[in-house]
Order: sequence, then C-alpha cells, then structure tokens
Amino acid sequence: MNLKVALLGLGIMGSGMARQLLAHGFAPTVWNRNLNKTAALREAGAQVADSPVEAVREADVAIAMVASDVASRNVWIDSGALAAMKPNTIVIESSTLTIDWSRELAAAAMAHALKILDAPVTGSKSQAQSGSLRFLVGGDAGVLERARPVIEAMGSFIHVGPQGSGTLLKLINNFVCGVQVASFAEALAMIERSRLDVSQAVEVLTAGAPGSPLVKTIAQRMLERAYEPNFLVPLMAKDLAYAGAAFRAAGITSALAEAARDRYLAAANAGFGQQDISAIVETLRK
Ligand code: NAP
Repeated sequence: MNLKVALLGLGIMGSGMARQLLAHGFAPTVWNRNLNKTAALREAGAQVADSPVEAVREADVAIAMVASDVASRNVWIDSGALAAMKPNTIVIESSTLTIDWSRELAAAAMAHALKILDAPVTGSKSQAQSGSLRFLVGGDAGVLERARPVIEAMGSFIHVGPQGSGTLLKLINNFVCGVQVASFAEALAMIERSRLDVSQAVEVLTAGAPGSPLVKTIAQRMLERAYEPNFLVPLMAKDLAYAGAAFRAAGITSALAEAARDRYLAAANAGFGQQDISAIVETLRK
C-alpha cells in the first residue's frame, strides 16, 4: 500500500480504474488532457496533476489508459514523462495498442531504466467501475509481482507471457468481439426488414449458439436503441485496424477484420462517433 501510483487518462475506463485505486487505499495522482474530466476525481480524493511529468515524477507505478498509439506516445514520450521517472519505476500500459508501438514503448522505457508491463484489459465500463477488469499482462513475472497489489485493486490478471503478448492477445480478443457485434448488427437489420417476429428471432439467436455474453448484451442495447457509451465506435474501428496489422504481420489477411472495421467507420462517419459500438446497427436500419 506504500506504492505511489499515477494514472494517465480519465476516459470511460481510466476514471473507473482511478476510483478503484482510491477505494483500495492508494491515493493516485491522476492526469487527463481535458481538465474537465479531473474535477470528479479531485472531489473523490485523487491528487490531480497539471502534466504527465508532474503525475509520474514520484510514482512507483505509473499506468496509462488512453485512446490509441498516438495518445500513448503523447503521454509517455512527447510529454517527457518517461524521462522524468525514477529508475525501476513500473510503467503499466493498459491502453489497446499496436504490437509495434508496444515494442517501441518498451524499448524506450528500458532505455530510461524503467520496468514495463503491457497490460491491456478485458471488460468494459461497468467492470472498470466495479474493479473487475481482467488484465492481460505481458512482461517479467517479478515486475508483475511488484505491481500485483495495484493491478488487483482494479481487477484480476493473467500473465500471458513476455512483453507484447498481453497486447497481442487483447487485439485477437477484440477482433473476435468486433466481428461478433458487426455480424449481429447485420443480422438484426435483416430480421427487422423481414416478416420475422423480431423478439422471437432475437430470442432464438441469443438463447442459441450465437448468443455469446457479448451478443446478448449488444442485442439488448440495439433493440432498446440504448447507445450511452460503454465502448466508443471509433475505438473499435481502431482495434480492428490494429488487429488487422498484427494478423498481416503473421501472414494472415483478415478479410473479417477489414469488413467489420468498415461497419464501425461508417457509423463514426454517420455521426455515431460518440456513441456505444451497438449504435452501428443504425447505419443498417432503414
Ligand atoms: P475514452 O473514454 O475515449 O478515453 C480516452 C482517453 O484517452 C481520454 O482520457 C482522452 O483524453 C485520452 N486521449 C485521447 N487522445 C489523447 C492524446 N492525443 N493525448 C493524451 N490523451 C489522449 O476511451 P476508453 O473507453 O476509456 O478507452 C481507453 C483505452 O482502453 C483505449 O485504448 C480502449 O481501446 C481501451 N479499452 C476500452 C474498453 C471499453 O469498453 N471502453 C475496454 C477495454 C479496453 P481527453 O479526455 O482529453 O480526450
């Protein structure tokens, strides 16, 4: 509990994670690019830093939960945060990122005598808020052991393997999720255009083999047109682009990653960029 923790990024996921750190007795120093998102955390007892450097300078463990490769590069490198950290500080990068950037970041961290874990998460907004995320950790087991109390304040973890393996598994995970949601959106649009009874048809799909936990949740949101963001449309498009690149690097051209990504891009371009991924069905509805 003596570990000093910094958290960069207070979006949908980061804000829930910060609250769990507070609830577990860590007094995290938090930073977010848009200051409006820091007010609630300040009220809840977190220290709010004016810059990533200020957030991480005294930290023993520094976590980032930001949108993309660009955002991760901005918070760790461009801001000067990596260069400002004490040797042996643990960098936990929990954003969903490309394999290439994850590797480059790890090299930069090591060049500054820091330790690094790639630790993207499964689970969404509610799991972040309830401290039940699952961290897919790549990196050294001894470093993970040191970071364990911090990670366990926000959820559980699985040690996937060496640096980069958490990132790879996360991209594969979100490839499957992104394709499932896109395929269900097309299926629902088809059902709604047919003479099938919508509730009956959806019940058959969700209670049967296609009814994964994700499809069950998403089906409900699509039926209710409840698009309050849990996971934003452009972030899934990003994950499918990143996953497609990982597949290509392994010699697999994923037609499914590309086709599903097009669905999310179309929705973002149609004005659903600030809504939940379930909103992609709207671009297929009449
Ligand atoms: P979000 O609500 O859109 O938050 C994104 C965060 O990134 C915000 O803090 C944002 O700052 C910051 N950011 C974006 N561009 C930046 C830049 N150039 N420089 C500095 N900060 C920047 O997204 P989220 O849902 O929390 O997702 C965060 C990460 O978790 C993503 O990598 C996502 O793929 C992953 N993830 C999400 C979910 C989910 O269900 N939501 C689940 C698992 C993993 P501002 O507030 O200033 O814009």
